[in-house]
Amino acid sequence: MDNRFRGIQLTRDAEKKMSVNVAELGLEDLMEGDVVVEVEWTTVNYKDGLAITGKGPVVRRWPMIPGIDCAGTVASSDNPRFKPGDKVILNGFGVGEVHTGAFAAYARLKGDWLIPMPDGMDGRSAMAIGTAGYTAMLSVMALERHGIDPTRGPVVVTGANGGVGTVAIAILGKLGYEVIASTGRPEESEFLKQLGASEIIHRDELSGPAKPLNKERWIGGVDAVGSHTLANVLSMTSYGGAVAACGLAQGMDLPSSVAPFILRGVSLLGIDSVMAPLALREEAWARLVSDLDMAKLDSLSSEIGFDGIVDAAHAIIDGKIRGRVVVNMKQ
Ligand code: NDP
Repeated sequence: MDNRFRGIQLTRDAEKKMSVNVAELGLEDLMEGDVVVEVEWTTVNYKDGLAITGKGPVVRRWPMIPGIDCAGTVASSDNPRFKPGDKVILNGFGVGEVHTGAFAAYARLKGDWLIPMPDGMDGRSAMAIGTAGYTAMLSVMALERHGIDPTRGPVVVTGANGGVGTVAIAILGKLGYEVIASTGRPEESEFLKQLGASEIIHRDELSGPAKPLNKERWIGGVDAVGSHTLANVLSMTSYGGAVAACGLAQGMDLPSSVAPFILRGVSLLGIDSVMAPLALREEAWARLVSDLDMAKLDSLSSEIGFDGIVDAAHAIIDGKIRGRVVVNMKQ
């Protein structure tokens, strides 16, 4: 294990002005935990963008090493579940928010947060999926638990070109769903169709104030956008359908009415990836191995090195990233 290593560190001065620095760190800069992981791959999620740009109150402990996801090799462990050399995945659990995170060569973590790398998955693919893709899988699993299946009608995916959206489209397409993709980037229609979308609609159709009920267009959906978009998705969901709400790219509000719930029996399914229990995570990662086409994952992800993380964090907040960004920490 190297004694000194590089990492991104966020600090705040007395006036609460934040600075982003590439710092030389040691293990003493990492918070407590019973497993030290050598970070080989990580990724830039929307939440990492909020942390690094300071656009959202993601970081709640200073100084902080951001980065909510990593894949790597156990360097040392006091946890009976893990030994040096084991390959592991970490998503969420407040890492990069309240616990020093993934944008450094090493991360000290709690073994209870780690998932052994599933057979059929490697670190690069796991981080091309990342929290965004694993959240897409949690959303699909929630729809299935509600009894939604491809025979019941089309499903809508909002924020289609984003990390959650692209992975959700690829999974739902592979499972045989007719997928309607809502996007503000119609120039990416061909890409979305290759991923698995059957129809593309402009996000403007869903971004204004919603009527309590509207024409039934889909049996369910995965919504990464929130606000008016989620209200419109609900108002257009067919009788007995369900919508998995996982994001807030348009806003945190939900200007809706109870009409879809009490007149059409529609259900709103809340999705949280951060504190999801281990059993649900392991199920989601196993499903990602079987239900996500790895060639499609390659087509929706791009690779950068450590030096590209800060620029990618700004780009994701500006809505300029298509799909997923995977970070090769050895580059
Ligand atoms: P991305 O930035 O990759 O994608 C978000 C997409 O939303 C954009 O690509 C864009 O798609 C669309 N979008 C952006 N701004 C607006 C807007 N003003 N109105 C309508 N659509 C908009 O982010 P992710 O996919 O990684 O994450 C999506 C959301 O999910 C975020 O809010 C994130 O915080 C949340 N999230 C929640 C998790 C949970 O545990 N619940 C876990 C992971 C993410 P297009 O260009 O196609 O229109």
